[in-house]
Amino acid sequence: MARRIEPDCRQCRREGCKLFLKGERCTTKKCAMERRPVIPGQHGNSRRRVTFTEYGSQLREKQKIKRIYGLLENQMRSYYEEAERMKGVTGENMLSLIERRLDNVVYRMGIAASRKQARQIVNHGLITVNGRRVDIASFIVKVNDEIGIKESKLDKEPIKVVKGMKIVMPKWLEFNTETLKGKILALPKREDIDADLQERLVIELYSR
Ligand code: SF4
Repeated sequence: MARRIEPDCRQCRREGCKLFLKGERCTTKKCAMERRPVIPGQHGNSRRRVTFTEYGSQLREKQKIKRIYGLLENQMRSYYEEAERMKGVTGENMLSLIERRLDNVVYRMGIAASRKQARQIVNHGLITVNGRRVDIASFIVKVNDEIGIKESKLDKEPIKVVKGMKIVMPKWLEFNTETLKGKILALPKREDIDADLQERLVIELYSR
């Protein structure tokens, strides 16, 4: 199954919000949502006024989360199923699990400009976890895991761009841009994750 069915900016316009899929461009005036924030298609402007049914809203929210993190349907469902088996609030568990994916961690640490680029970096074997190469983007990190970059890849783009940069990252992560080493300090809590995600709607959808 193809991972991506629409170009990045079109996905944002479809969801009616910025999903930050293109790295640096997303924070500039070149962002398509800044220039033309309408649903793609001939009648985008008029379709924006459509109100969703409860089921429609649940579907849209699930789609939005999948697009942000670049997930396939079976992956999303398996995060939900695992979250349901865990103690605590299922929605928060689900988002926490998704945040702990290695590609997302690489993005959050600032090693990549977007999650898509982070997935490529991981898939190309540039990242180590506790000293061992891990090339699986969906690998779930744990507290105290140490994230590194393979020595032989340090002069590769975009790794050399990161060196010495000032990066703001969530408090559950640490990454030193001089040594290019990082650590998972804690599990991500709900307040560490984007506030405008309504995971409750996704849980309602899956538990129908
Ligand atoms: Fe979305 Fe980024 Fe494109 Fe803006 S530039 S529409 S945030 S992918």
